Amino acid sequence: MSGTGRALREMGVRPKKSRGQNFLIDGRVADRHVEYARISRDDVVLEVGPGLGILTERLVERARKVIVIELDPKLADHIEDAFGDRVELIRGDALAVPFPHFDRFVSNLPYSISTPIIFKLFEHEFQGAVIMVQKEFGKRMVAKPGELDYSRLSVTVAHHAECQLLEQVPASQFEPRPRVDSVLVSLDPRPPAYSVVDERLFLRVVNVLFQTRRKKIRTSLRNASLLPDEQKGLPHLDERVERLSGAEIAELANILAARR
Ligand code: SAM
Repeated sequence: MSGTGRALREMGVRPKKSRGQNFLIDGRVADRHVEYARISRDDVVLEVGPGLGILTERLVERARKVIVIELDPKLADHIEDAFGDRVELIRGDALAVPFPHFDRFVSNLPYSISTPIIFKLFEHEFQGAVIMVQKEFGKRMVAKPGELDYSRLSVTVAHHAECQLLEQVPASQFEPRPRVDSVLVSLDPRPPAYSVVDERLFLRVVNVLFQTRRKKIRTSLRNASLLPDEQKGLPHLDERVERLSGAEIAELANILAARR
């Protein structure tokens, strides 16, 4: 049993799959994760799911302030004992508690909440994020139009940020060992290269089109009651969303906004 396994046992923590409790055991991966985040002395860093604190201990050495959100009461107790007032601990579900102000986000994300946490991140202004996610999920984050992994997640991520796959982390680096490898991914927020008249409508159109990704755009819009009576000049109606870029979806959504 690794040191991580022993520590969990001593704390009485039985790792739960439903909570994405696969703990990183290799300190060199944690070093690189935190290096990629380019944290400065002025930064407030937010971490979701500190677990045993392998990232947290590196964050407190670099940042002005570290805020962590941990759902598991025993792990939260451990973080409190280990770090005291060197971290601000929020006990609870990161999906439910409001995020405090932060400059950078560094986290080994529980798999089951990766999507909603990334969407929640984009409701905030921040400088950058470096996150660990499952490899397939990371591939969906960076996929381009026409690629197999291109999805609602890809468009939404590209709409808000530059996203890069930084490195692959084998499943053997976690305890308990997950079924799949992970990747480290960076997010650098920036405005999109296209304009969007109605952000909510744009994101709704993205959502609707990817729910029925194999259908023609015309059909998907009609089914969602988004197709106006006047269809002249509406682009891409006979295409499928899996080949459309964010800019092309924005072009369509902007005309829909004008005809409402
Ligand atoms: N940061 C540690 C590491 O790298 O080894 C632990 C990462 S582990 C993948 C995910 C962590 O998130 C666990 O500590 C788990 O208890 C916590 N967690 C799971 N769901 C959560 C939620 N909804 N809100 C906050 N923390 C959560």
